[in-house]
This record gives sequence, structure tokens and C-alpha cells, in this order.
Amino acid sequence: MIYIHIPFCQRKCNYCAFNSKIADSSEKNFYVDALIKEIALRGDDSAVETIYFGGGTPTTLTLNQLEKIICAVGKYFSIDERAEITIEANPGTVNENYLRGLKSLGFNRLSLGVQSFDDELLKILGRIHDSRTAIETVELAKKFFDNVSVDLMYSLPNQTLKKLRRDLEQIKLLEPQHVSIYGLEIEEGTEFFALSRAGKLPLPAENTCADMYDLITATLPTLGFNRYEISNFAKKNFESRHNRGYWTGKKYFGFGAGAHSFDGKTRTSNTRDVATYIKNNAAIVEEIVTRQAAMEEFCFLGLRLVEGISAQDFKKKFGVKISDVFGFVIEKNCRRGLLKLNGDKISLTERGMALGNEVFADFLLN
Ligand code: SF4
Repeated sequence: MIYIHIPFCQRKCNYCAFNSKIADSSEKNFYVDALIKEIALRGDDSAVETIYFGGGTPTTLTLNQLEKIICAVGKYFSIDERAEITIEANPGTVNENYLRGLKSLGFNRLSLGVQSFDDELLKILGRIHDSRTAIETVELAKKFFDNVSVDLMYSLPNQTLKKLRRDLEQIKLLEPQHVSIYGLEIEEGTEFFALSRAGKLPLPAENTCADMYDLITATLPTLGFNRYEISNFAKKNFESRHNRGYWTGKKYFGFGAGAHSFDGKTRTSNTRDVATYIKNNAAIVEEIVTRQAAMEEFCFLGLRLVEGISAQDFKKKFGVKISDVFGFVIEKNCRRGLLKLNGDKISLTERGMALGNEVFADFLLN
């Protein structure tokens, strides 16, 4: 698994705390060169089954720049011929020629940051696109890709259930293969954080947010999307293989500013700062994942998946029974109706999905 971070955007959205910035073309060129250097330095013979270009907005790079990166990956790794190769794109940053180019570079999955189809909300969020552009981009994307994912947000300022219902109707009409949902979180350092501090962010009431979540999770399955993870819904056979890899503890390489890597024992992360990354290439900070942390992660990452975790897999991986380590946590959350047991499997209930963070916190032993 390979993740490649492209930290550039045309504009900073009002809620965004991701590692992204506005850059000119020469900074982007230097960044691409630094990326290629890092890929060359860390390449090995392992077969790559998924590649994910995330950001930022990877489609702010030219096709030529993307081609250089893909070629470097092909040169220093062995890309499986059936690899899932995803790129995140934002409406307003791609046209027909660009999409055709992405396809010819080998991308076979497009993840579109739509967020909403409502013009007022898009403006509040500070997105560069309007509703019409979002619709046209999804339609165009479907002409070139048979695996298109749409991101949808809820709990937004001024959002109502009626507006959300309209967004879901639009999803029904557009028929993407995959939908990811995100509840707005107000993060420090963002425009929304400042507005919220000043009491100027008209967020929906908590119970309305809960109703929004219920509306989405109840509606998407009626449109043919299976929920396979807390925030992800897919038509049959269109689950994201890359993200599933994170939740099941696979090894991955992360290239670019702020990207993380995991070799099964050690997690490393590159410097977040783009200028430092370009200058020093991968300034890596290492963190050994202790046995305890690995056991905790196995549980709280695996529980994100609807299928949950397997007690047998836990035993195979760590040599102890899951009940010997987390018995009290599992029992407590079963009693609260947040976890359920089914044979070898332990998984979240519907209610547990809504309160996932509470359950995950319980799996942290210290
Ligand atoms: S497009 Fe995405 S990464 Fe870029 S500023 Fe907006 S939310 Fe952040």
C-alpha cells in the first residue's frame, strides 16, 4: 500500500485543518522532485496492491507532474496489475481532458470532495465549487471511471434536514459507486474555529446532528450502498481496498509532507512542513508501536469495519486471548448495547457505530 500526499489547494476551506496550502508552480515542481527522491530512496521489491493520492488536492498538479510520480512508483516498486489506484479530486479542478489523462496514467478510482450540493453551504464551507460544478464533475467522472466516490458532509452551519435530504436525492440521481460521510468537526486554527469562538457559527443543534446522521445511515442502504465501515458506504464490490488496508493493520508506505508509514512494527512520519520536506526530503520521526499499542489498534481500527474483529485473528497475531486483555471492555460495551458478539466476531451495534469514539477510547488501556 502506498499513500502519496499532495499538500496543495487552490484555496483554504474554512473548516480545513489538513496539511494543505496554496502554492505556485515552482514550489509544486520542487515538491514533485522531492517526492520522487523519497520514493527512490525508500523503494523496495514489495508488490503494491493499492496506491492513494490524497491531499490537499492532488488534481492541482499537472498531468505531467502526476506522470512523473507514477513513473517513479513503477520504477522503484512493483505495482500489481490489478492495483487499485485512487486520486482525490475536487469539483472545479478537473475537466474532460484532465480526467482522460488520469485514466491513461493508470488511475482507476476517483474520490470527489463534493461535501454538499447546496450552494449556500458550499459558500459557507469556502469550497471553490458550486452545486452545478459538483453535479457536472460527478457526471463527467462517471464517463471515464467506473469507480467514483463522493464525499458528503453533515452537521454544517445553516444545514437543515431538508437540505441534507436534497443532497441524498442528488446522490440517488448521480449514482456514484461509493459515498464517504463526514460530520463537521471544528478544529483549532481554522476559520470556523475562530467564528465558533466568537459565537458566529450557526451550527445545528446536537439532536439535529444526530438526526442527520440517522438520515444518512438509513437512506444510503435504500439506494443500494452497503455500509462497510463507520463512515463509508459502497455498492457491491466497490469498497475502498486502500482504506480497508489501514483498518486491518496492513503495512504501508507514506510519501510526502506529513505522510505516515507503517512497516508492521514501527510507524514513521515525515515532517509536515512543505518547505522543510523539499529541503531535507523525508525528515522522519520514528515511533515504535509497542505490543500493547498494536493490540489496541487492532481493536479500534478493526471495529470501524461493520464486520468487526475476529477473536481468532487476535490470538494468532498476539498469542493471547482477546478476552484476557480486553474482556472487561468488551463486556462493558456489550452491556451498554454498543458491541455485539457473533461467534468469533466482535463488532459495533448500530448504536455503537454512532458512538464509536466512546467505544474506541475504552480500548486504550492506559
Ligand atoms: S480542498 Fe480539502 S484539503 Fe484543500 S483546503 Fe479544502 S478541505 Fe482542505
